[in-house]
Amino acid sequence: MTATESRSYRLGEFHSFEAAGRRFLYLVPAGAVFELDDAAEKLVARLSLGDAAHDELMSELVSKGYSYPDADELLGELYHSHVIVTGETVREPLANPPADFPLQSLVMNLTNQCNLSCTYCYEFGEDKVATPEGKPKFMDMETARASVDFLLGQSGTRQSVHITFFGGETLMNFPLLKGVVAYATEQAAAQGRAVDFSLTTNATLLTPAIIEFLSENRIGVTVSMDGPPDLHDKLRVFANGRGSYDIIEPRVKALIANHRTRPITARVTLTNGVTDVVRIYRHLKQDLGFHEIGFAPVTTSPDRLYSINEKGMDGVLEQFHILADEWLEFALRGEMHGFSNVSDTIAELIQGVNKSHPCGAALGLVGVGPSGDIAPCHRFVDSDTHSLGHISTGIDREKQSDFLTRGHINSKYDCHTCWARPLCAGGCHHEAFVRYGDTGHANLHYCDWIRDWTDTCLRIYGAVSAVNPGFLEQFAERKALS
Ligand code: SF4
Ligand code: SF4
Repeated sequence: MTATESRSYRLGEFHSFEAAGRRFLYLVPAGAVFELDDAAEKLVARLSLGDAAHDELMSELVSKGYSYPDADELLGELYHSHVIVTGETVREPLANPPADFPLQSLVMNLTNQCNLSCTYCYEFGEDKVATPEGKPKFMDMETARASVDFLLGQSGTRQSVHITFFGGETLMNFPLLKGVVAYATEQAAAQGRAVDFSLTTNATLLTPAIIEFLSENRIGVTVSMDGPPDLHDKLRVFANGRGSYDIIEPRVKALIANHRTRPITARVTLTNGVTDVVRIYRHLKQDLGFHEIGFAPVTTSPDRLYSINEKGMDGVLEQFHILADEWLEFALRGEMHGFSNVSDTIAELIQGVNKSHPCGAALGLVGVGPSGDIAPCHRFVDSDTHSLGHISTGIDREKQSDFLTRGHINSKYDCHTCWARPLCAGGCHHEAFVRYGDTGHANLHYCDWIRDWTDTCLRIYGAVSAVNPGFLEQFAERKALS
């Protein structure tokens, strides 16, 4: 008897789902979607009753009318795809990225000052991790140049790198932003490479000249905006408590009308009382004309007045489902929909991501504060506890390694049996710190929510791949996914 003949098979680790009348498996160790045909479906059903030996399965398949070579090919395909595994198969831990993983993105916090006082702000609110006392409020050109040189120097052989401008309110330091665009473009070109830019803003300081500059330089813009006036003005307020909607509405309209080179995105923070996702989406998409709208529940400890409780999150999920159904209808007609919470997950499914870490923080991405301090990402900028070094001396590899080891999926034992881990990987390090006091803790407060949402996106992916697969190709090209 050969080694293959003596094998005993069992089912691999997957999440099964149906879409468009077909059955799919989301193969967890690979982060890949596998469509079952009739034969594979029967075999999976057989093994769900208990393990079986190779010979036994072959005999069953042959007795059901399969030729010996077809049955053998089927078993081989399912085995190599890890739909079925042998008794001895052990879960391979995901490897640590190399210590010199090349940088792709730099988030530059041009200032830690803001002209708004949004109640929930993670930089100034009750859950802030920043310790800006005694540090510069605005980045200067010398620090900015050093940051650009650092990015180019640490990005290995990458042909293009990305700079995101952030704040405080980014546009409070617009002269520096212009200087960085010129300097980085020149330096990258001198090395035969490219750099592209984006920024996040509250839109209060946008002017026609700034909009023209952003459009001419193809700078992607994300506006933090929470919906129509009655919702937006609840928490996005000036220091005197006045809402900011009236100030930003005409500026946002001018931005969307005159910035012609990149899609304009709205980023909505959901809070207690600001959970009317569909109404917010309609307002931002149809009334104001944003191209894409993404939603995120506020990051906060659970006892804050503006935090969303479990019932509120269930309501958010219901509304997400409405927009997800709409996203699918659009995709089946070959049209793009602007709900980026679906688009972002579909993009990850197309790429077949299988994350060792939830995001690029401290890996392909770092944040730099006005003082030149390096942080895992923009949310940790200016925090002494989370500093990963300084732009003048580079990354402290020991601190980086500690952050990445704690945040690695291998360290999050609760996640090891979760089928959603290739996409979630335990969730945002910053949220974990705010909730649990440890950047490496899994965000266990939202697991059911995440699994429900991931299942929804898998069904959309499955339905589109079954009914209109060309759309996924167009989508990938448009998002420039390789
Ligand atoms: S945090 Fe929860 S949902 Fe995310 S991978 Fe871990 S167990 Fe799964
Ligand atoms: S740690 Fe959180 S906020 Fe920072 S990049 Fe990752 S997901 Fe985003």
